[in-house]
Amino acid sequence: MDAADMGKDLSSVLISEAELQAKIKELAGQIDTDYAGQELLLVGVLKGAVMVMADLARALHVPVQMDWMAVSSYGAGTRSSGVVRVLKDLDTDIAGRHVLVVEDIIDSGLTLSWLMNNLKSRDPASVEICALLRKPEAVKVPLDVRYVGFDIPNEFVIGYGLDYAEQYRNLPFIGTLAPHVYGGE
Ligand code: 5GP
Ligand code: MG
Ligand code: MG
Repeated sequence: MDAADMGKDLSSVLISEAELQAKIKELAGQIDTDYAGQELLLVGVLKGAVMVMADLARALHVPVQMDWMAVSSYGAGTRSSGVVRVLKDLDTDIAGRHVLVVEDIIDSGLTLSWLMNNLKSRDPASVEICALLRKPEAVKVPLDVRYVGFDIPNEFVIGYGLDYAEQYRNLPFIGTLAPHVYGGE
């Protein structure tokens, strides 16, 4: 699916496929430098982080393992419920490991600040965050985000893992959805 196939559902392409891929390589370069000589456990947050996880993992040169957590914060709509539930926990014991949480987007930051507390309580050697996208609201929570791809405006975005009602995750770019699709103005 590309921008043309999206037709009138898409209001604009915010970040192109080429821009995404260039940023992933840049982030991977920083991570390779910071974790040189160490082994890294990438923890992807399902389902939104699948694309960034897959591309980031392939761009990294340090040895990595991958594990996944699923937490719920949003339903089918576009607003945070504020409730975090663990739908799938890690398979790995992270005690003594260097953990890098890979996220698609930080909006309110509620999900990640909860997740960071949860992971820190498991005694990892270190735990840091790599988020592809960050919205302006995120500055309100005390969250130390080591790697950020793009700071974006406060709009609902889709593509490259991000969904609206489970659709559009497979778009290779980040777009904004036309308000009529989600019943906006
Ligand atoms: P937070 O807890 O930071 O408000 O929200 C985190 C989660 O909400 C993200 O991992 C993502 O699943 C979802 N989310 C937040 N903003 C957006 C957005 O603009 N588009 C989509 N598709 N999901 C979002
Ligand atoms: Mg996410
Ligand atoms: Mg979603």
